[in-house]
Amino acid sequence: MRLATAEINLTALSYNLKQIKVLAPGTRVMAVLKANAYGHGLVKIAQHLNDADAFAVARIDEALALRAGGLTKPIVLLEGFFNRADLPILIANNFEAIIHDENQLRAIETSQLDARLSVWLKIDTGMHRLGIEPEQFEAFYQRLKACDNVDPKIKLMTHFSCADDVHSTQTQVQIAAFERLVQSKPEAKCLANSAGVIGWPQSHGDWIRPGLMMYGVSPMINQVGTEHGLKPVMRLKTRVIAVKSLAAGEKVGYGGRWHSKQQTQLAIVAMGYGDGYPRNARDGTPVVIRGKRYGIVGAVSMDMITVDIGCNPDGISVGDEVEMWGPALPVEEVAACAGTIPYELLCNITPRVSYDYLAEPD
Ligand SMILES: *Cc1c(COP(=O)(O)O)cnc(C)c1O
Repeated sequence: MRLATAEINLTALSYNLKQIKVLAPGTRVMAVLKANAYGHGLVKIAQHLNDADAFAVARIDEALALRAGGLTKPIVLLEGFFNRADLPILIANNFEAIIHDENQLRAIETSQLDARLSVWLKIDTGMHRLGIEPEQFEAFYQRLKACDNVDPKIKLMTHFSCADDVHSTQTQVQIAAFERLVQSKPEAKCLANSAGVIGWPQSHGDWIRPGLMMYGVSPMINQVGTEHGLKPVMRLKTRVIAVKSLAAGEKVGYGGRWHSKQQTQLAIVAMGYGDGYPRNARDGTPVVIRGKRYGIVGAVSMDMITVDIGCNPDGISVGDEVEMWGPALPVEEVAACAGTIPYELLCNITPRVSYDYLAEPD
């Protein structure tokens, strides 16, 4: 009996990429695959994204894993490189670097490279994480253009901090700050993450960088992917391994956090924080069994979760499948019940979970 399994719907993945192109027509797509493609499986997901123009990852190891998997598309390193010794690896594997500081620029200028490096210049327009200061832009731009180690077709980018909130003015401020700096430059421009693609069409530019939305999940506050025409790619499922009756007033699970108010039945489900399910999911966080929602009760354990199935009118029994999130239950909703964001739940899937890749025939 297969227990914790992440079913990955590759047809939904291709569908979402098409939908992204509908939302941002005429842009090129850098498909963001960091953190094991948001928990969906790096190489498998990349192999199914033929229509993406480039891939983006956060770490050099992730980029090398893509090349080892036979992927030949351009690969962009979102944080560039971390020391000078990385540069030959970038050149040898044809990786592109987003650069964000003086150390990186100086390393490029003063290294002996076998070929020119493709560079994206990141400007900090208000996120205050990575990126050069707006005042540094002109000098960086000129130095990159003058550097023999750099492909003269540099690209210009920035990153949003609040694009998930359509009521915040921050994104407009960031777009304006970016435009002011780069408007006279002919280079390709890239601003939008998923939330930019969905909420800020004026940010689409020449390239977009969607991550979460490719997996069918919404980055927007209080929204779910289907509201943007997306289909969830992951279905996290497991099975019921026991059903038991519980008298009124009995406490359930570690710490006895929850107690029954009346006589009820519990389904014990083979999933826990050892699989990446969030331990702080509150009482009432939904799961789906036999097409119906039931709430979890008591603390999530490492390997098990207890679900209140009431008087069990549908006859739930051992072996029944349980959907923890997926098409029947948005991961956005589970994340809200656990006080976190869907990004974290997807990335947290542990190696104990097995993966099934499904593609519907065209
Ligand atoms: C992760 C990341 C993205 C993708 O963000 P989503 O919200 O998942 O679309 C885009 N750009 C940068 C720089 C990132 O780090």
